[in-house]
Amino acid sequence: MTHVDPKTEGATPAAGSYAAKTRAWIQANLTDELRTDRCLDPGATLQQKIDFEAAQHIGGLTGIMWPKDYGGHGLTVREHLEANREIGLSPMPNAVNSIGKELAGPIIMAVGREDQKRDLLPKILKMEHIWCQGFSEPGAGSDLAGLRTRAEKTADGWKVNGQKIWTSGASKSQRCLLLARSGKPEDRHKGLMLFAVPMDSPGIDVREITSIDGARSFCEVFFNDVIVDDANMLGSPDEGWAAATRVLSIERATNRMYRSWRFQSEIDHLVMGCQSDNRTYKILRGYRRELAQCRIDVELLKGHVEALVDDLLDGKEIGPRGSFPKLFWSEAHQRFAQMAYEIVSRFPADSNQALRDLKARMEHIYLTGRAETIYAGTTEIQLDIIAKRILKLKKAA
Ligand SMILES: Cc1cc2nc3c(=O)[nH]c(=O)nc-3n(C[C@H](O)[C@H](O)[C@H](O)COP(=O)(O)OP(=O)(O)OC[C@H]3O[C@@H](n4cnc5c(N)ncnc54)[C@H](O)[C@@H]3O)c2cc1C
Repeated sequence: MTHVDPKTEGATPAAGSYAAKTRAWIQANLTDELRTDRCLDPGATLQQKIDFEAAQHIGGLTGIMWPKDYGGHGLTVREHLEANREIGLSPMPNAVNSIGKELAGPIIMAVGREDQKRDLLPKILKMEHIWCQGFSEPGAGSDLAGLRTRAEKTADGWKVNGQKIWTSGASKSQRCLLLARSGKPEDRHKGLMLFAVPMDSPGIDVREITSIDGARSFCEVFFNDVIVDDANMLGSPDEGWAAATRVLSIERATNRMYRSWRFQSEIDHLVMGCQSDNRTYKILRGYRRELAQCRIDVELLKGHVEALVDDLLDGKEIGPRGSFPKLFWSEAHQRFAQMAYEIVSRFPADSNQALRDLKARMEHIYLTGRAETIYAGTTEIQLDIIAKRILKLKKAA
């Protein structure tokens, strides 16, 4: 059982453990520019974040479960969990290449050819290839099987035409994990194919969209007669849907495993920060019950993640249960973000720098939190999965 005692969690991890190694690495390498609990102007550049992520791999913080042959560390989900607890408890920035590590990498491992695995996987961990995910389209989000981007067979590969939207990080990516169809739209799940498309291919047009927090991460990506070699096809022409859905269910369960601990550290930051000034402490005390509920939510989430890790170690399938942590985390974290935003909005104008940093962090969490119940499958879609696949409820006739 991987259960952690809440009384000792956050205390110094056992010497020699993977958690101790991770904590020491973070303490030695997390600079002030990179910390999300500071609001330095300017903060870290994209290149600094990329270098930091490449260094994390050398330090053993990423690629933990990937086989050594593909550049990974060849360890288990237990070490992955230990590292992620420490990552979550620290104010580290979110990964630039999470799609490479958490989506493209597992898909390549599941359906890729041996030469693709040896070529593409180490480049993800070394940050030579940042990946984006080209699944959603203007008419296909929740209903992904409705996608219309076409891949037509040519003599030496595939000709791709269509449009993707909400493609996070496309303008800084070297590869796109593209889901396209070789047949007719009416074929739905059949004939969906996955490709590893080089983003510098002629005919790809990337347009950035500014989001509510001012970031320009989202993009629209247009494919106009883009030629993709057979060598960049992932799996067989009919395997796209099965591979995508299988990996998405594991993604919901294990990706960003640090989230529950990050949630805990955000609550701690809010509580400790407010306690530093009588005026902000008075505001905080008005939210005692809501704060207590958030802390309970964190414990429930951690317990759930740890139980899933135990199942994975026992070789059990996660399947639709991946929807539980995704749904619970996104809803609970959004409630926290709303409350935290209300609290920091009431901070006095002459607050000190530490409180201004806290305010900036909580505002950012509030704005980015709006999307948490949408990406990786909306709340309604998670509820639908649970109703259909766990409770086995049928649709009304
Ligand atoms: C921050 C962020 C990052 C993203 N990054 C990427 C990315 O990198 N790559 C990518 O491909 N996509 C990405 N997406 C897109 C994301 O996957 C879609 O937004 C999501 O799947 C919802 O699709 P949609 O926006 O088309 O909404 P729709 O599917 O149109 O849904 C609209 C509303 O209707 C509800 N609804 C839809 N169908 C049902 C149903 N059957 N039953 C009940 N309610 C339903 C939904 O829950 C939602 O509330 C990202 C989205 C966000 C917010």
